[in-house]
Amino acid sequence: MPLVSMRQLLDEAAKGGYGVGAFNVNDMEQIQAIMMAAKQTKSPVIVQASRGARQFAEDLYLFKLIQAAAELNPDIPIAMHQDHGNSFDTCKSAIALGYTSVMMDGSLKEDGKTPSTFEENVEVTRKVVDYAHERGVTVEGEIGVLGGVEDGHGAGGSGLDHITDPDQAVEFAERTGVDALAIAIGTSHGAYKFTKKPDGSVLKMDILIAIHKRLPNTHLVMHGSSSVPKDLQDVINKYGGKLKETWGVPVEEIQLGIRNGVRKVNVDTDNRLAITGAIRKVFWETPEKFDPRDYLKPAREAMAKVVAERMTEFGQAGHAGDYSPIAITEIAKGYKDGTLSTQPLVAAK
Ligand SMILES: [Zn+2]
Repeated sequence: MPLVSMRQLLDEAAKGGYGVGAFNVNDMEQIQAIMMAAKQTKSPVIVQASRGARQFAEDLYLFKLIQAAAELNPDIPIAMHQDHGNSFDTCKSAIALGYTSVMMDGSLKEDGKTPSTFEENVEVTRKVVDYAHERGVTVEGEIGVLGGVEDGHGAGGSGLDHITDPDQAVEFAERTGVDALAIAIGTSHGAYKFTKKPDGSVLKMDILIAIHKRLPNTHLVMHGSSSVPKDLQDVINKYGGKLKETWGVPVEEIQLGIRNGVRKVNVDTDNRLAITGAIRKVFWETPEKFDPRDYLKPAREAMAKVVAERMTEFGQAGHAGDYSPIAITEIAKGYKDGTLSTQPLVAAK
C-alpha cells in the first residue's frame, strides 16, 4: 500500500471511535518492530520521525526504510509523519521527501525551546497548512506547550507551565485549518513525566474534555503519552540500569482521552525502555556475546510486544482492512474543493 494521508487515517479512526498510536522511529529495527505489531494486530499505524531522528538516520535512509515497510505490508495503512517540525522549512523538507503528514509545532519558536506568542503560532502554522494541503499533506498543530524535552526539542519545565486554554484552542483551529490539534494537558516528553501515579491535579483530562466539547469533530493529539510501565523500568534496573522511579500516562487515561476526541497518541519512551531492557538483559546474562543480532533481535521483539499492546489498548487493532487508501493527489483536490473540511465544527460554551 502506498503511504496514506494521516487525515484519512484519523478521519477513519473518528468514524470507528478508536485512537491510533504514533510511534517514533530512528532505525530499521524500530520500523520493523512497528510493522510486526501492526501485522499481528491488523492495525493502521502512524510512524513518525523527529528532527533528531532525521539527522541521526539521514533522511534518505529513514524514508526508504518506511517505503520498504509500506511495500512489504500492502494490507497496512501507514502514515509517515514529521514529529515536532520547528519551522516552515523543516515541514517543507519532509513534504519534499514524501512524508504524508507534518507537525508544525509553532508553540515554540524556531529554536525549539522558547515559547512563541499565539499570533506567531497561528501565522507559521497557517503558512504550513496552506503549503501542505495544496500537496495533499496533513498538518498537526500545537496549542499550549508540553513539558520536558525530546531530542533537544522542548521548553523544558513542567507540563503544567502552559496548559492549553480551550478558547484559544477554538480560535487556533479556526484560524489555522489544521487537521489535528496537539494540546498540553500536563504531560511531558521523556521518561520522567510524573513523580507519582498522576491524578487530576497534574494530568488535566478535564481540560481535554472541555476542548473536545467545544471542538467535537477536531482530531486531538496526546503527546508524551508513554505509560512508562514499572515492569519495563524493572528490567532495565535489574540488569544494571539506573532509572529513577517515575510514572507515565496510565493507559486508562489515554482511553478516556480516546472517548473524548483523541485520535493520535504519541508513544516513544515505552519503546525506548523495552529496547534498552532487552539489550541490557543479553549483555548481563551472556557477556561473551558480540554479534549485534544477538541483542538487536530481542530488542526488536520487546518493542513489537509493547507496540502491539498499545495498538490493542488504543482500539486500532483489527481496523487495517476497513478502508482503501485515497491517493494523496485526490486528498489535495479534497482540500481544494472543500470536501475535506478545514473549518472546525465549534460548539457553544
Ligand atoms: Zn511530542
